[in-house]
Amino acid sequence: MKRLTALMALTLVLVLGLSVAQAATNKLDEIKQRGTLVAGVKDATPPFGYVDENKQLVGFEPDLLKYIADKMGVKLELKPVTSSTRIPMLTQGSVDMVAATMTHQLQRDDVIDFSITYFMDGQSLLVKKGSGVKSVADLADKKVSTSKGSTSEKNVKEAQPKCNVLSFDDYPQAFLALKQGKVEAMTTDATILIGQKSKDDNPDQWELVGGFFSDEPYGMGIPEDQSKLRDFVNAALMDCWRTGTYKKIYDKWFGADTKFHIPLVWKMELWP
Ligand code: GLU
Repeated sequence: MKRLTALMALTLVLVLGLSVAQAATNKLDEIKQRGTLVAGVKDATPPFGYVDENKQLVGFEPDLLKYIADKMGVKLELKPVTSSTRIPMLTQGSVDMVAATMTHQLQRDDVIDFSITYFMDGQSLLVKKGSGVKSVADLADKKVSTSKGSTSEKNVKEAQPKCNVLSFDDYPQAFLALKQGKVEAMTTDATILIGQKSKDDNPDQWELVGGFFSDEPYGMGIPEDQSKLRDFVNAALMDCWRTGTYKKIYDKWFGADTKFHIPLVWKMELWP
C-alpha cells in the first residue's frame, strides 16, 4: 500500500512537473499572461526602427509589432537590438521576438525560427558622388564598411573577395566611416542605406550604386520551437496585409510623400 501511494505521488509530481514545464515553454501563453509583448527592434535604422525627435522608438517595424500586440490583446514593450545582438537576445529570452531588418536565412534558422516574409530588400552600395565606385566589382583592394552580424558582411566578400570589410557595431558608425573617408563605400540593404543617407545634413552628396547584389527577405525572429507564437505572428501578418493595414503602415514609412519612397512591388505569401 505504501509502495502504491509512493508511486501515485511520484506520478503526480511528474505530471505536474511536465505541465509546468510545458506552460513555461509556451511563449504565446507566457506573453498573454504577462500582458506585454517584449520585442527587439533597431533604434538607429530609419525608417525601420529609430528614435524620433520626441525620443520615441518609432518606425515601420514598431508599427507592425503594435498590430501584432493589439491582436494578442497585450501591451508592446520595445528593446533596442543591433544586427549582432538580436539573435543572442532572442535565444537568451530577453525579448519574445524581434523585427529588426533581419533576413531569414537557413543558417540563422538553426538557432531561431522565422515568420513569413514581411519586407523585401537587396544589398547595395552607398558612395560619395563621383567617387568612381560604380559597382561591387570596383571594390577590389578598397575598404567597405558595414555592421557586425549582418548578411552584408559576407555577401560583399562573396561578391568581391578582394575588398576589405570593416565591420562596425551599427550602421550609423559604418556611415560615419564613409563620411570621414575611412572607407570608399558603405554596404547593406538598399533601404537601410537610403535611411542613413537621408539623415545627413547634405544627403545629395551620397549616392546608391551597383544595383542589388543579394536578396534580403525580412522575417521576424521567433524563439526556436515556439510554433504557437510563430503561427500567431504569421496569421497576424497575413491579416495585416489582407485588411489593407499593411499598405497603410507601408505608405506611412515608404510612401510617395516620405524621404524613403519605395514602391510596394512584392506580395506577401497569403495562405488560404
Ligand atoms: N538584412 C540583413 C541582415 O539581416 C542586413 C541588415 C541588418 O544588418 O539588419 O543581416
